[in-house]
Amino acid sequence: MIIVMKQIATEENISNIVERLRKEDLSTNKIVGAECVVIGVVGDTSKVDRELLATLDGVDKVLKVQEPFKKANRAFKQTNTIVNVCGVEFGGAKQVVIAGPCSVESRDQIVEIAKSVKASGASMLRGGAFKPRTSPYAFQGLEAEGLKLLIEAKKETGLPIVSEIIAARYMEIFEESVDMIQIGARNMQNFDLLREVGKSSKPVLLKRGLSNTIEEWLMSAEYILHQGNPNVVLCERGIRTFETYTRNTLDISAIIAVKKLSHLPVIADPSHASGKSWMSAPLSLAALAAGANGLIIEVHNDPENALCDGAQSVRPNEFDEIMKSVNVLSNTLSKM
Ligand code: PEP
Ligand code: MN
Repeated sequence: MIIVMKQIATEENISNIVERLRKEDLSTNKIVGAECVVIGVVGDTSKVDRELLATLDGVDKVLKVQEPFKKANRAFKQTNTIVNVCGVEFGGAKQVVIAGPCSVESRDQIVEIAKSVKASGASMLRGGAFKPRTSPYAFQGLEAEGLKLLIEAKKETGLPIVSEIIAARYMEIFEESVDMIQIGARNMQNFDLLREVGKSSKPVLLKRGLSNTIEEWLMSAEYILHQGNPNVVLCERGIRTFETYTRNTLDISAIIAVKKLSHLPVIADPSHASGKSWMSAPLSLAALAAGANGLIIEVHNDPENALCDGAQSVRPNEFDEIMKSVNVLSNTLSKM
């Protein structure tokens, strides 16, 4: 629910309404616009008498927000949210590129890849330490040791690091180790985990679930925001469709929809979307042209022998070429 105040509304009128709603266990979000103040109301508003509210001093109109997500809704916050990860800004004028291997395999591997992606212009390093694998026999990640190696790669390059958490019991070690916590596609609706990262001080990269709708994805973001963590970056990583040629289908229209529906930044993952390294370049450009605030790309120095997702990982020289095209497109987009 949104309460639009009259231009002549006083601070007292506004605080009266805020107090009245607080007594009904509803929290409010004051948005000061160029012409008037808008009050976003969060909580179960089903019992609120909207007609009565509309008669209160200073109120122009009371509108119902159709979508079930409130704090993630652009109606509640018109300006784009900027998520700052150690100085790297998601959602601002510049697109952010995160790069690195699917999983951390050794010190040499992660440090070498980190150095090369940094030289090509990446702003952050990715690397899985705890891997959610379909098969229990597949490489499950170096776990805590992987996080330590990521920290070493950060020390060598200065690149902030993002890694995926797979269970709430690892929160402490993630709080100590990473700059951004990734919630993977398979955990997008692990509500307990969402609540935990919602209590964290670390920004969260929230991937879209394999078969989840845009609304479900934004509701998962809502869980995190509702716990008090405002720093959520969404990631479109492809969804399951009837097509089997590609690993998934990059839902470009979801990027466009999310930019309209929400104030949160959204980035794209061409690697998991296609499963094919040679598709990363064109899909990256397509996502940025559609309005994505950045990219997360898998890069490996020896893709043939990668322990995870080698077929979709680009080599460092290929990543360098992608960055050149990304920069050309970014310059063009900034002039549009
Ligand atoms: C990953 O980033 O390596 C990963 C497992 O991604 P997703 O959750 O999108 O499948
Ligand atoms: Mn991967």
